[in-house]
Amino acid sequence: CGIVGYVGPQQSQAILLAGLARLEYRGYDSAGIAVIDADGELGMRKRAGKLKVLRDDLLEAPMPNGTTGIGHTRWATHGRPTDENAHPHLADNDKLAVIHNGIIENFSALKAELVAEGFTFLSETDTEVAAVLLGRAYRTNGGDLVAAFRVTAARLEGAFTLLAMHEDHPGLVVGARRNSPLVIGLGEGENFLGSDVAAFVEYTRKALAIGQDQIVAITPGGVVVTDFDGNEVEVEPFDVTWDA
Ligand code: GLU
Repeated sequence: CGIVGYVGPQQSQAILLAGLARLEYRGYDSAGIAVIDADGELGMRKRAGKLKVLRDDLLEAPMPNGTTGIGHTRWATHGRPTDENAHPHLADNDKLAVIHNGIIENFSALKAELVAEGFTFLSETDTEVAAVLLGRAYRTNGGDLVAAFRVTAARLEGAFTLLAMHEDHPGLVVGARRNSPLVIGLGEGENFLGSDVAAFVEYTRKALAIGQDQIVAITPGGVVVTDFDGNEVEVEPFDVTWDA
């Protein structure tokens, strides 16, 4: 339902939680974040319920902070609102974290294929199928996360905004979209992704809209947008004018 991503010099947990709070107006039943910490380890926390449940949980048992992170508020479509079904979902031996808005229409056929190959699942969601597929593609594409997104997007039917980050690539968040929105927020030495500009409007007013069937890779120093065939595409910045 709500998506936020961050790469830059700042510790990301507060930015992710603030972004998710700004997306609360859309409604949701669960929330979660993942960050890559200073040691390059991926940490993840997710809880059914309001953002406050997640926030209190992080206060009680803090998780290492880090400068690369993704956050999600879920509006369940496949699988009840439980901690397990909340996003992020992990794959590739818990090195890859994935969040998703939308519905993967062909998830049960894909899940059957992955189960037959020996992959296991912790949730009832369509999203975890996309996560496991992305993890497999990451391995068969030599650890190239953008290439893995291309291969994975070609297999998915339905609507998705997908964001992912991998322990092997601190300082990188990759996203893709089809029939579901995704915008980039351009900062100084930092960049953001959001399901809408509310996710990052307190940090930057410079935004870029990503077109249908496109993939974006953000690092602290830049933004690269490609189509699902791997061709680079030009994106036009716009200024966010509404008051937030
Ligand atoms: N279909 C996914 C799920 O049920 C994502 C729902 C959403 O857009 O929040 O977990």
